[in-house]
Amino acid sequence: MLPKFSDIWQNTLNWNPNPSQQKQWDKLYHEIILANRQINLTRITEPNDFWEKHLWDSLAGILDIEIINLEQSLKVIDIGTGAGFPGIPIGIVCPNWQVTLFDSTRKKINFIKILLEELSLKNCHTLIGRAEEIGQNPSHRESYDLALIRAVGEASVCAEYTLPLLKTGGMAVLYRGNWTDEEELKLKSAIKQLGGKIALIRKLQTPLTQSIRHFIYLEKIAKTPLQFPRSIGVPNQYPL
Ligand code: SAM
Repeated sequence: MLPKFSDIWQNTLNWNPNPSQQKQWDKLYHEIILANRQINLTRITEPNDFWEKHLWDSLAGILDIEIINLEQSLKVIDIGTGAGFPGIPIGIVCPNWQVTLFDSTRKKINFIKILLEELSLKNCHTLIGRAEEIGQNPSHRESYDLALIRAVGEASVCAEYTLPLLKTGGMAVLYRGNWTDEEELKLKSAIKQLGGKIALIRKLQTPLTQSIRHFIYLEKIAKTPLQFPRSIGVPNQYPL
């Protein structure tokens, strides 16, 4: 069982999970720990750690922040979702959002398919592929309201993966740890080419271990030029 930490949810993110969401957290935790014996899904397995680094961190990107409306129906993609973070906790909290859990690793996506069945999460879907490819696929390009990305690469690479997938007016949320002026300069130069601007940078401290988190919100203000995203491997090898 995971800890509940109701006061911490309330005090840090102005939110309180209901009993059915608590049950979903426990199931999610149980299934991941079980599957972790066979597939390498996460190194974060201790209950408090899992609660803070997977659940709290995933939700900190979208809760208690004016620029994200939880009541709207949004089309959302989580790029490089891994074991389902941040997309699955967000899908549980926002049943009116349609969340695509996207990753290039078939094993992980196969696991997530089973997980979604176990959790009866009807608003979450899976997709296998590379961000560089679906960004050029007309069925996905410029079609999402919100793109989430955590622990996939440097910020300008994350921008090249997320911005082409967003509708104009859509938002990307880059989950980052520490954040430097140098990273911000590089990111600004990249998003200028991709049709984005920084809407907000939110700095938070995680509630149990007091680690620093930065959430970078990028607004898509113009269509992304067709040459982006570049071919597989290029964004990572030659970041903008
Ligand atoms: N987002 C999860 C989290 O924070 O726990 C997983 C992070 S894991 C370090 C990075 C994930 O991104 C891996 O599952 C990997 O397969 C996926 N990934 C890396 N590059 C990708 C790309 N170009 N397109 C799609 N998925 C990618």
